[in-house]
Amino acid sequence: MSSPLIESTERQALRRAVGDLARRYGPAYFQAKARAGEATDELWAEAGKLGYLGVNLPTEYGGGGAGIAELSIVLEELGTAGCPLLMLIVSPAICGTVIARFGTEQQKQQWLPGLADGTRRMAFGITEPDAGSNSHRITTVARRDGEDWLLTGRKVFISGVDRADAVLFVGRTEDATTGKLKPALFIVPRDTPGFEYQPIPMELVTAERQFQVFLDDVRLPADALVGDENAGLLQLFAGLNPERIMTAAFSLGIARQALATAVEYAKTRKVWDTPIGAHQGLAHPLAQCAIEVELARLMMQKAAHLYDAGDDVAAGEAANMAKYAAGEAACRTVDQAVQTLGGNGLTQEYGLAALLTATRVGRVAPVSREMILNYVAQHTLGLPRSY
Ligand SMILES: Cc1cc2nc3c(=O)[nH]c(=O)nc-3n(C[C@H](O)[C@H](O)[C@H](O)COP(=O)(O)OP(=O)(O)OC[C@H]3O[C@@H](n4cnc5c(N)ncnc54)[C@H](O)[C@@H]3O)c2cc1C
Repeated sequence: MSSPLIESTERQALRRAVGDLARRYGPAYFQAKARAGEATDELWAEAGKLGYLGVNLPTEYGGGGAGIAELSIVLEELGTAGCPLLMLIVSPAICGTVIARFGTEQQKQQWLPGLADGTRRMAFGITEPDAGSNSHRITTVARRDGEDWLLTGRKVFISGVDRADAVLFVGRTEDATTGKLKPALFIVPRDTPGFEYQPIPMELVTAERQFQVFLDDVRLPADALVGDENAGLLQLFAGLNPERIMTAAFSLGIARQALATAVEYAKTRKVWDTPIGAHQGLAHPLAQCAIEVELARLMMQKAAHLYDAGDDVAAGEAANMAKYAAGEAACRTVDQAVQTLGGNGLTQEYGLAALLTATRVGRVAPVSREMILNYVAQHTLGLPRSY
């Protein structure tokens, strides 16, 4: 029987293989690296070599030829084993997808093989300090200067800039006839003169840091532009659906890790005559978390299925819903897991408290819970827009 609700044997095998790899590293490795401010390059490199990082990218450029469904399995399983590699959301999922779908032949050859095997990384920059959730307000502008572009602007919260070979920036160009600004995507190598970045101190235990970026008349060749100057919005959305699906996978992996830790603890910890897991005060909330995680996962699988089938519009609604559901399920699950462990919920040994802030990322980024509720209210329910 073939159904998107029943995972194929290939996908189950991928899940197991990624889990096996990630468990060899585990949460202790991941959190020790993150706390020391070090990168998790060994894991990244191994996952790249095994083909997991580029599983969604086309085979002719070194990828696995599968889809976002497979890449979301990779991230979910890494997270479940305690190694949620945030850059998977950005490098292969957003940047890889956009270049594979809209890049020139030369851009594909230049970037995709490296993104696929993990030897090159790309960050993604859309958020700006004065625009925030309102990406229509971004002011990073690319002006023509002869054949070249000059890119100027400021970005904030950009993940992994220090480890990236280049950043795919969302800027705007001026329409020659109307003078209106329209979105456009540019690949900017990190060593380009005029490109500066500074880390933002964050309360997160993650291997990737977030950066402010300053672009001051950054001179780019004509071929830094990805795709069609007049179709920037469409191309952008092609990258944002995978971003939401992958953020759901990020949240769900963390939630599953926390739930497994809590359940294991609740089965063995005794302070009265029975294990604490026998008390419904703990058992029921944990059971609720298991249900919510599974429901969010189904929504993520639906979104990935629609996206991989080429239905960008339906995938948009499903990806937003999946990101929301997974973010909420993860926040509640980690909160309940911490509670289940009592004082141990806050020790570094069990590593759960660090997940409290990690799960908040899935509520805020790449689009906040409130903006998803706005989207569903307006587009799914047809209610008037409030802003
Ligand atoms: C760990 C981390 C990693 C990130 N990585 C990247 C990255 O790699 N690249 C990148 O481009 N960005 C990245 N971001 C940025 C992220 O996408 C933004 O933080 C997010 O889009 C929200 O924008 P903001 O922080 O400016 O919040 P704001 O837009 O200022 O929103 C603040 C609050 O107001 C609410 N709000 C705003 N407008 C409305 C409204 N109309 N109705 C109801 N509520 C509203 C929001 O929901 C939110 O709760 C990252 C953020 C984090 C935390």
